[in-house]
Amino acid sequence: MKYRHHWLSGDRIDLPTGKVVCVGRNYAKHIQELNNPLPDDPVLFIKPATSLVPLEAPFPIPTDRGEVHHETEIAILIDTRLQNASEGESIDAIKALGLALDLTLRDVQSRLKAKGLPWEIAKAFDGSCPVSGFIAKEHLPNLDDIHFSLKINGETRQEDTSAHMLTSITGLISYISRHFTLEPGDIVLTGTPAGVGPLKPGDQLELAISERFTVTTSCL
Ligand code: ZN
Repeated sequence: MKYRHHWLSGDRIDLPTGKVVCVGRNYAKHIQELNNPLPDDPVLFIKPATSLVPLEAPFPIPTDRGEVHHETEIAILIDTRLQNASEGESIDAIKALGLALDLTLRDVQSRLKAKGLPWEIAKAFDGSCPVSGFIAKEHLPNLDDIHFSLKINGETRQEDTSAHMLTSITGLISYISRHFTLEPGDIVLTGTPAGVGPLKPGDQLELAISERFTVTTSCL
């Protein structure tokens, strides 16, 4: 069954997702914490539609493949077909914004990276992309300064603003559309700030954007 998005209010959004396009290494402090080099261009990868699960419901995390890390990211819902889009066309194609976790099997990824192999199975597994309900972009008029955060069991673990992205939200969508056609219902994840770390079953999570948007959930 196709995953269908919803507004934060719970009402359905009639846009089935084909794919989730993600960027690695889009915040300098996160690049430092993983000892990665600064990229010349955005580092893109894709999660399939089967990675999506609702963030609001308790979501399962794998417990048999080493550490599962949280990466808290601003999620963009696209509602227009985009190819070779300008930044202006990219803004117009944004329907709504939400939050997502780019769940990452960090031990698996590190092993594959060390061998120079692709790390798809560490990032694109079933359920690897819990995504929240969305709010219309009109509620967040300044895309270049969106504050967001993650608390785990009451303690703030990730907190930053889109002002610190190496490639801005619209720059990123424009760049992606030169490589992959974005279609209505597709999601763009815009990278994680520093503070990534392991999740365990039973963790209570609170994700928020600028006071106007809070999601509480937990890991199974
Ligand atoms: Zn990520």
